[in-house]
Amino acid sequence: MSNKVRSFKFKTEVKQLLDILVHSLYTNREIFLRELISNASDALDKIRFELTSGGDVIDEKLSLEISITTDKDKNILTITDTGVGMTEDEIIKNIGTIAKSGSADFLDKLSDEAKEKDVSNIIGKFGVGFYSVFMVAKEVIITTKSYKQDEPAVQWKSDGLGSFKIIPFEGTQPRGTKIEVFLKDDAKEFIEKHTIESIIKKHSNFISFPIKIEGDKVNTVPALWREPKSNIKQKQYDEFYKYLTYDSEPPMDTIHVSIDAPVQFNSLMFIPKRSFDLFGVSKEDIGLDLYVKSVLIHHKNSDLLPEYLGFIKGMADSPDIPLNISRETLQENRVVMKMSGTLVKQALKYLEKKAKDKPEEYVEFWKAHGKVFKLGYSDYANHEKIAELLRFNSSASEDSEGLTSFAEYLERAKEDQKDIYYISGSSREALNSDPHLEIFKRKGIEVLYMYEPVDEFVMNGLAKYKKDYNLTPVEQADLGKLDKFESVEKEESEVDKLSEGEEAVFKKLMEKIKDILGDRVTEVRESKRLKDSASCLVNPDGDMTSHMQKIMHIINKDTSIPKKVFEVNKDHQLIRNILKIYKNDPKDPFIISTIEQLYESALLLEGYLADPHKLFNRIQDILLKSSDWHPGNKK
Ligand code: ADP
Ligand code: MG
Repeated sequence: MSNKVRSFKFKTEVKQLLDILVHSLYTNREIFLRELISNASDALDKIRFELTSGGDVIDEKLSLEISITTDKDKNILTITDTGVGMTEDEIIKNIGTIAKSGSADFLDKLSDEAKEKDVSNIIGKFGVGFYSVFMVAKEVIITTKSYKQDEPAVQWKSDGLGSFKIIPFEGTQPRGTKIEVFLKDDAKEFIEKHTIESIIKKHSNFISFPIKIEGDKVNTVPALWREPKSNIKQKQYDEFYKYLTYDSEPPMDTIHVSIDAPVQFNSLMFIPKRSFDLFGVSKEDIGLDLYVKSVLIHHKNSDLLPEYLGFIKGMADSPDIPLNISRETLQENRVVMKMSGTLVKQALKYLEKKAKDKPEEYVEFWKAHGKVFKLGYSDYANHEKIAELLRFNSSASEDSEGLTSFAEYLERAKEDQKDIYYISGSSREALNSDPHLEIFKRKGIEVLYMYEPVDEFVMNGLAKYKKDYNLTPVEQADLGKLDKFESVEKEESEVDKLSEGEEAVFKKLMEKIKDILGDRVTEVRESKRLKDSASCLVNPDGDMTSHMQKIMHIINKDTSIPKKVFEVNKDHQLIRNILKIYKNDPKDPFIISTIEQLYESALLLEGYLADPHKLFNRIQDILLKSSDWHPGNKK
């Protein structure tokens, strides 16, 4: 270590953040104290863990606490903890950069938000809390000494403008961290004991270490999760939730689990009102805080809940886990596995009840967290429960907001209908005009609408509902089965049936079409599904759905055009017109133009048409001819 003062520039993203904090935010400055106390508490959690798991720690006898003192003459607020402290390398790394991934996105979001409203809860959620001290400080000095043997104490000093200094510390400093906040002239209110006290009561009441102001203890240190449920008021749960998540709103739901067997544990699980995804939450933010006998051993443990329940925030505490367990072995720990199984069961049970008793509230849940929850299709053991909890927009909904479950779909289904049909597309409008749906409209059969790529995987993964019902993409529907259902619309055919002779000509025309399209299609066949469209493309039977194929193409960066079946609607006026032309002159070039046009239009709809020039020129050509033929053009 050098014994000279060294200067460092803040990383760009830190400078950006400080700029936002200092200039655009004057409401809710008090949260700086919550952030400093939460850092102190984290440092104490870490040292408590080291101590209980038998690590090598200096100043072992120090009591674990946070103390706050004030110097009214100099306007200095000092926050001291006896936590893990930091080595010189650690402080340069931890306070001077933003380690989190996605910080650029976060900063963009923050600066937008800062223009309009208070960003205090976002800062905490993203974990850049320390810097908020510069909302109230003109200068900050950190003096810290690591718990590790033979690490000298070090000082960090900054005015939060562009750089910080690292200064070797000559005095005595016990293990832990002391933060001296030199208050700005307009922030002197934070020197008052009663102000500090009320801020702590408001934001930091659940810190599990004593917080002392000028020697007096102010927090109550409760372990809410160990109290009997009947003693706890919702307000206490709400406060704990806000403390835990920095959410400014209370949770949508609270699930308090107390279990004695197969393992003993307590857990508080909360479902937030809104998804935290907006704040650039990454995988590392998912999970429950894991305690052993009230000692926090792992912050946000993702082994306790599967990804599809990642929207749940909270904690779990069990005396049955060894304290000195390493993070690596936690995952294979039998107790953790059993806890996880129970937590999943409890969460699903809770959601089932909510869906049944309060369907309107369940819809709110689905809108906030459905995107994540539907990933549960991969939890094979809980397939049936999860299927029951899924919601979809459908052709029976009034608009794109409407939602239905599989069970509700079946209540409306035809007698003997053994399939639940679905289709994927980018929007309700796009799907409403999809040719594949024509037969379903005609027969009055409901179709579930899928808007997100993951939906295909969900439906594929589930494959069935309640063992009896197939989840079937409309493209793969057995048209024979559909035909048996009575039509809801009158089948008033605007065109007459073809005579036997005409049928023979139509067959020839179909061969001609196959010649025109060549090996760009696997087959040309008469369509049973179409009514308003002249033709469409479908995947050969047994293949994946077109939508899934498209997703795979994107994933594999495949630019080839898949071969499909070209279906022709014999009763469509356009096809009848072509038939007439064909009868007159099978070699009429107009036939080729029209078939090419129909084929490329279908490709265009499916997003496979790489070069639209040919299509465009052909349209011009056809328009020219048709205007030439227009009756008004006859001399
Ligand atoms: P976060 O707490 O979410 O990591 P902060 O900006 O609040 O983000 O703190 C940055 C880092 O600085 C912490 O992760 C921690 O490593 C370190 N740190 C801050 N305060 C303390 C403290 N009192 N004792 C030990 N380390 C601290
Ligand atoms: Mg922090």
